[in-house]
Amino acid sequence: MLSTINDAALMKIAEALGEEEATKLIETLKNSDETTDDVIANEAGIRLNTVRKILYKLYDHSLVSLRRTRDPKTGWFIFHWKLQPDQLEGFILSQKRRVLEKLDIRLEYEKNHDFYYCDTPGCKRIPFEEAVELVFRCPTCGKPVMHYDNGKIVQTLTRKAEQLRKELGE
Ligand SMILES: [Zn+2]
Repeated sequence: MLSTINDAALMKIAEALGEEEATKLIETLKNSDETTDDVIANEAGIRLNTVRKILYKLYDHSLVSLRRTRDPKTGWFIFHWKLQPDQLEGFILSQKRRVLEKLDIRLEYEKNHDFYYCDTPGCKRIPFEEAVELVFRCPTCGKPVMHYDNGKIVQTLTRKAEQLRKELGE
């Protein structure tokens, strides 16, 4: 079931969680059915409290399940973690949907505006309305701004959005 989850997808999850070590942790979980935080820390070479922090984040997103048992000797709780592949797929899909929403908004903005640009690296393009107010001078470097053709940007954004729509089956 986990074969559908590739490394790129794992990286995206790790990025979304904002944790560098999340990838290593997920890979360790992938290779075992159910395991404890101690074992993960040892196998992935991540500090135990970092392991726990990431596991609880994953748990918040229902990406792992948690089972608790009690150590008969010490009486302490042992936490057993398991990856939830179905949830993982859902998580990736919802991430993709969020990216697509942002792309669509950006695309609309690019399509509905005429841009002006001074052609100086580091300066920004400005929409027509703003350019008029600035009497067609760049607010950063003061040079005159010229009409900027954003056709290529629109093309690239459209392609990315189409690709995502295909992946989402929309
Ligand atoms: Zn400029």
